[in-house]
Amino acid sequence: MKRTTSSKRCNYVLEKLKLHYSGTSYCNCFEPPWLCPEVEECVWKPESNKSKQFTNAVNTWIDLSKKTNNLFIKKQLYEWLDMNHANILAVDRGLYPVERFFPLEKKGIFNTFLGRIIMEILPPCKNTKGKNKILHLLSKACPKRCQIRNLKEIVLQYATEDDQTYLFLLEVMKKSLLGKYNHCKVQLQFEGRHVFYQMFSYQISQKSFFLKWFENGNHQIFLFFCLKEYLCDAVRQVKTVYDYIEKHWKWSIFDKQVVKSMDNCRKILNTISEREYNLLHVSDWISSIESFLLQVSKQHIKLFRTTNAMGYISKLKVNLNKYIISEDLNVDIRQDVSRFLWEITQRTTDKNVFYYALEVLGLEREVVEKVKNEIFCALDYKMLSPNDLFTLKEFCRVIELHKSTYNFVLPKHYYDKQVLSLKKRENKNNQAIGYICFICNDIKFFLTKLSDSSRHSNKLARGSLRVVVDNDISCCHENNLKFVCGKKPERHVKNSKKKWKNDKKALTRKLLKEKQRNFLSKQCIQTPLQEIDLLGHAIQFNNKMIMLCSSCGNVCMLDPESFKYSVNINCKVCHVSPRDICIKCNTETTCNKILVYNQRRTKFHKAPMCNNCTNVYAQKQPVVI
Ligand SMILES: [Zn+2]
Ligand SMILES: [Zn+2]
Ligand SMILES: [Zn+2]
Ligand SMILES: [Zn+2]
Repeated sequence: MKRTTSSKRCNYVLEKLKLHYSGTSYCNCFEPPWLCPEVEECVWKPESNKSKQFTNAVNTWIDLSKKTNNLFIKKQLYEWLDMNHANILAVDRGLYPVERFFPLEKKGIFNTFLGRIIMEILPPCKNTKGKNKILHLLSKACPKRCQIRNLKEIVLQYATEDDQTYLFLLEVMKKSLLGKYNHCKVQLQFEGRHVFYQMFSYQISQKSFFLKWFENGNHQIFLFFCLKEYLCDAVRQVKTVYDYIEKHWKWSIFDKQVVKSMDNCRKILNTISEREYNLLHVSDWISSIESFLLQVSKQHIKLFRTTNAMGYISKLKVNLNKYIISEDLNVDIRQDVSRFLWEITQRTTDKNVFYYALEVLGLEREVVEKVKNEIFCALDYKMLSPNDLFTLKEFCRVIELHKSTYNFVLPKHYYDKQVLSLKKRENKNNQAIGYICFICNDIKFFLTKLSDSSRHSNKLARGSLRVVVDNDISCCHENNLKFVCGKKPERHVKNSKKKWKNDKKALTRKLLKEKQRNFLSKQCIQTPLQEIDLLGHAIQFNNKMIMLCSSCGNVCMLDPESFKYSVNINCKVCHVSPRDICIKCNTETTCNKILVYNQRRTKFHKAPMCNNCTNVYAQKQPVVI
């Protein structure tokens, strides 16, 4: 037998069992020729009796598993039965047992996910777009807003499209049904196991059967909990992760509920299997645990928020904005106030100084105290003049901005690499100036992003986007042109006015939103942009970390994949694209991957091709290279 991990595991189990039963009459019952005393009461009674010794041995293992008080040995005995499941099924069909082991589980599927669960499912991760299918299913099982409603459709869709997802679901079900996780206190006994060996070997090992079984039986609640149990196990694998989410979100509440109810499920299955094992007709066991799981899911546990908790200051900012708009207050946008507040935050971290700045700007001490104690609310707005409201709003904005903006100095070797790459890019190496609008939080850098088309990757983009030059010199003290924000925030939905025409309430809400955007852009256009030099710096702004790519000098956003192609942080685009050269005309702008016939390797494969060549060769199938 080839020495694989599963055979290693096999040897381990065998060793432990032989050690435990050494010196008893059972010590030879685990290996051919399976010598052991006759069992009085057989649980497993295969129809054909070709291998009496093996049948007796299996019944001995079952007997031992029922009698032992040693939990560890009990687990090993079940594991041993699982390893022999193929032999058991073979004898059922009237064949002889072979000496080979067929592992019941395919563990390989799980290996790649542990790290990604931490990065892409547990908080603070939020985005679900473009996620791996399996990770998306797992994120639905997380203790947040209840997500079971569309689980059925998604499972059906993913399992149909993707074999990997389907195999993953099978493994997760096996693990939960048989109780194979380390945290399981209750294992399924042989009677139940035997039925599921058959189910996993003959029935749902066919994808079409699985899909029908899942769809017609409405088994989503069962699968929902299987995914939850897998998640609990995954988190338990890494102690530090467990400790962290326990401290911040009390993970153990969720963990306990899931582990306990899944143990209960296996207990229920054990009762049913004992009762029905010898009957010819077996009821749908999984359905019978589902009514129990449905009861459990009524006490839904929600630990993670799907929307961010808003602090007092950011809430106050939003409310003040709304108030100013809805009351149609005539507010002067005072640059000096905004500037002054921002300068204060740049010079101190002392909260008291921040609040004192409000008094300096003319707010009454009583009001400032109320804001400080977070009790200044909507009823108090009337007490303030429009300009004081503006000052307070600006105060909130600046505090929030200060909290979410960091400038990091990069280590020297990064600086050196960036200087080199800038020189290569545009023959200048002393600065990488860009802009951010601190009013509407719009980033004016061209951020590179991975895309199939080099046109959309921003790889060749230079300069800044959405920047307008204010050439109205008359109002300025200096005779300088100013760069201001050119983003006039636009409506999200096209033709929304038409759509809301009949609904008065919705219409006024929409109009109010529009007014807010106008107010914002009015302030945008009057405020000079914040100039930022990215050379040697990384800017954290609005939950994004941006810096220069160390190999091409373009501006990129840091994400978990930034180290995928190199040990230095890079934009990914410059590492991916050099390979994307059109196979026909050798230009570097490829958009398509086309199936071609390679004469040298005498096989079909996909190759990059530019748009022009794609059009030319579209008529000449197959494309030969
Ligand atoms: Zn729920
Ligand atoms: Zn702006
Ligand atoms: Zn790059
Ligand atoms: Zn071409």
